[in-house]
Amino acid sequence: MTGRRCVALIAHDEKKDDLAAFARAHEHQLSAWDIVATGTTGGRVQEACPSLSVARLKSGPLGGDQQIGALIATGEVDALIFFVDPLTAMPHDVDVKALMRLAIVYDIPMALNRATAEQLIDFRPL
Ligand code: PGA
Repeated sequence: MTGRRCVALIAHDEKKDDLAAFARAHEHQLSAWDIVATGTTGGRVQEACPSLSVARLKSGPLGGDQQIGALIATGEVDALIFFVDPLTAMPHDVDVKALMRLAIVYDIPMALNRATAEQLIDFRPL
């Protein structure tokens, strides 16, 4: 990591399109952050925003969510944008709860929807 702010990006199911659109709309602001993402989400964001450098971890179901959790625990992730799909059944429920718990423990901002994410990308950690 570079010492810059780092944001982690994850989107579930149909929300991947929304997160890619969010990143595209805020590409300039996101360029001030280091970006890590789960595998598929990261690929979609990278494709939407070629100017950004997205570090892609494993896909969520293969452990990517937990890699992000580990980065939160070691202080390497300063903020989390996690677009959960509320219109699916809850197969990812344990992953959502695990990352929410770590965001609370380590007191980092966590956005679960676009309105909050738009506030969060202007956040500057102390
Ligand atoms: P993905 O992982 O970005 O690789 O799809 C996210 C998830 O499903 O947890």
